[in-house]
This record gives sequence, structure tokens and C-alpha cells, in this order.
Amino acid sequence: MFTNLKEQYRKLPLNFGPLKGANGSARITGPCGDTMEFWVYIDDDKICAASYTTDGCEHSIQCGFIAAYMAEGVTVDNVYRFEQNDILCMAKDIPEESKHCALLAVNTLKAAVGDYQERNKKQNECNSPDEDCSKCDKEECASRKTESSFIEKDENLQLRRRLEKIKNKILVLSGKGGVGKSTMAVNIASVLASEGKKVGILDVDIHGPSIPMMLGVDKLTPMTDGEDILPVTDGVLKIMSIGFFLRSNDDPVIWRGPMKMNMIKQFLKDVRWGDIDYLVIDCPPGTGDEPLSVCQLIEAPSGAIIVTTPQNVAINDVRKSINFCHSLQLKILGVIENMSGFKCPNCGEVSNIFKEGGAEKMASDFKVPFLGRIPIEGEIVISGDSGKSLMNKVSASTAEELKKIVSQIISKTN
Ligand code: ADP
Repeated sequence: MFTNLKEQYRKLPLNFGPLKGANGSARITGPCGDTMEFWVYIDDDKICAASYTTDGCEHSIQCGFIAAYMAEGVTVDNVYRFEQNDILCMAKDIPEESKHCALLAVNTLKAAVGDYQERNKKQNECNSPDEDCSKCDKEECASRKTESSFIEKDENLQLRRRLEKIKNKILVLSGKGGVGKSTMAVNIASVLASEGKKVGILDVDIHGPSIPMMLGVDKLTPMTDGEDILPVTDGVLKIMSIGFFLRSNDDPVIWRGPMKMNMIKQFLKDVRWGDIDYLVIDCPPGTGDEPLSVCQLIEAPSGAIIVTTPQNVAINDVRKSINFCHSLQLKILGVIENMSGFKCPNCGEVSNIFKEGGAEKMASDFKVPFLGRIPIEGEIVISGDSGKSLMNKVSASTAEELKKIVSQIISKTN
């Protein structure tokens, strides 16, 4: 039975909901009436995993997430040192009237750790410690809870298993925003699918997730079967984006580096991508946490495609993207020059509004492949805004150029 993830998980899918194999848990209702519940799995005095749920406001959700995030990897003693202020420092914009959410999160987390210690104590007091624990039915015993759990909780193994099924993982990067990176990611994914490939698209552009809108699925909601998050589909592509979890397109996302890493990990690990040929990953512009996280999480990405416009201000930033790929030993599949000239639909004359050819020259200077150039077309804007497939709309020459770009990508991957 599928559940509506948006309702169940409220805003963030992160560390949210009961933790399988937890050996400590607690539920506390704060003075404001919000209830928070925490689950922890503790091994060798260390919090290996923590998760939470709350029926409270956005701030409760944020504080719960931060407390769970902060707890992971920390010793039991150190969790007891957590204070309300630690959460508030990480959360930044929590208004005065919601600061109690941070206290609720800290207290519930500590109570879950306390519950673990209590169970552990009872287990140690067990009269028959040498007996086979599987025959014992004491609910409170910590060992009962741990038996089944940590094969499942081996996150890295899960991640590896999930990624093994994806033949090619391609990052789409750009030095600057607004150069058409997401547009190219959507088109590359769609053209790959039209070539008979099974394709997923993952939007980790946390601060400006536009893929759901471009693919016309922004009103849809990912579902879960209780185990995995099921990607949304437009009938062709498997799609996942942080955009699905924001209440409105105007919601800002204020996360620091490690939180982004956690979210990206969850999207790679918990989304049921299945056996697919390509996962196209739309990263935010620049060389920040998100592309870095993707590279760290995916052991062997197939490579990166760098999108730029032809003018110098954009090209200068692309150099940074190229150096970024080199420093991570990430293969550059090639550079695409987007918004490369405007062909007047009436007279056919081409105006090079943003100049032309800058990307090709830069690619040749850096000895990286140049994949092709896509002109400015009014239909691309209309299709992007209305969520309609671009391929049917663009001029024949642009469609041909897109196909040429994709065939080069196919030839450079498996
Ligand atoms: P980025 O991901 O780099 O921020 P987007 O893909 O979101 O950029 O594109 C920004 C805007 O530019 C969108 O409205 C998109 O429709 C438009 N756009 C992108 N490429 C083209 C193009 N070749 N011709 C016309 N409009 C384009």
C-alpha cells in the first residue's frame, strides 16, 4: 500500500519517520502542544543512526532534522551535552516564538538515548545472559532490537547496491545560473529516452529545483511503499527532485553543506531507480557542495557535461567547473554552448546576441570535447515554462543538434 509521501513526511524526507531496528525511542509533547518522536540506533556507545517525526510546524521539522543529523556518529555522552542553542546556531532563521522547537528536539533526542540506556541496563541485568536471545521475548531488551537491524542500516552498502543498477551517472554542471543547464539536462534525458535508453533524472539543484516544472510533473507527489521512495514519472523518465518536497515553489531552502550531502545521499540511496541506463543529475550552478557530494557518493560517475553561454562572463566561470572536474578526476564528456545565436523566425537572419564560439575555443584551449551549440529559441522558453516536451517543439536544426550531442554522449558512455 503506497502512502502519500508529501503528507506523511511533511516537508523533508530526511531522517524522517521510524528507524528500522532502533534500540531507543522517545516521544515528548512540548508546552506548545507539538509532539516529537525520536528513534536512535546505538552501537558501541555511538549513535549510528537517528530519525524523528513531528506533528509540529516547519521549525519543529527543521529542528528535529538538525538534532538527528547532529547526533549521528556522536557518542552517548556527547549527545547529553547538546543544547537548544546548538540547534539554533545551525538552523539560523528560527523566530523567537519557535525557539522552543529546538529545545523539544534536543530533549526528545536525549530521552531516546536515555531509553536505550534503560533497555541496555535491563539487558545487562538479565538473569540468563548466555542464553540464546532469540528465544527471549522481553520487549525492552536492547539486544532483541539490534539483531535484525544493522545489515539493513548499512547505508553505504544500500547506496552501492542502488547505484550498481544504474549503468551511467552523468552530472550536468554550469559555472553560472541561467545558462540553460536544467534545460539541457531535461533535453539530454529526453533524447536519451527517445533513443531507447531507460533514463532517470535527479534534480539536486536544491536552491532552484526547476526539473519538475520543466517536465510538467510539479503537481505530482512521490509515493513510498514504506521502504523506498518511488520516483515520479512523466511516462518516460523517472524523476526525483527536492522540488517535490517543498510546499510551494517560493519556499526557500536554507541548508548547510552536510545537510545537502545527507539529502543527496537519501535521493541516491532510497529512491527506487531500478535498472536504468542513465541517471542525469542536474546540479546547481558553480562548484559547491552539491556536485562535490554527488562525486563523493557515487564511486564512479561516468562523467560531466558542462553547459555555458558564449559570452566571456560565463566562459570564465566554466574554467572553474573544468578545474573542479579535473581535481576530482571526473571525466568531462564535453561542453555545450547554449543560447548560441538567435535565428529570427521571420527573416532567418542569425544574431549572435551573446557572441558565438567562445565555448568551443575555451574547450579546445582546455583540451576537453566540444559537444555542440544550441541557439536561442522562443519555443524553448515556452516549453520549459509549460512542461511540454521540447523535442517536438524546437526547430528541426536544433532537434538535430540535440541528437548529435546525445549520440556523442552515448558513444562516450556504456
Ligand atoms: P539554469 O539551469 O542554468 O539556471 P535553465 O535551464 O533554468 O537555466 O534556463 C533558464 C531560462 O532560460 C529558462 O526559462 C529556459 O527556458 C531558458 N532557456 C534555456 N535555454 C534556452 C535556449 N536555448 N533558448 C531560449 N531559452 C532558453
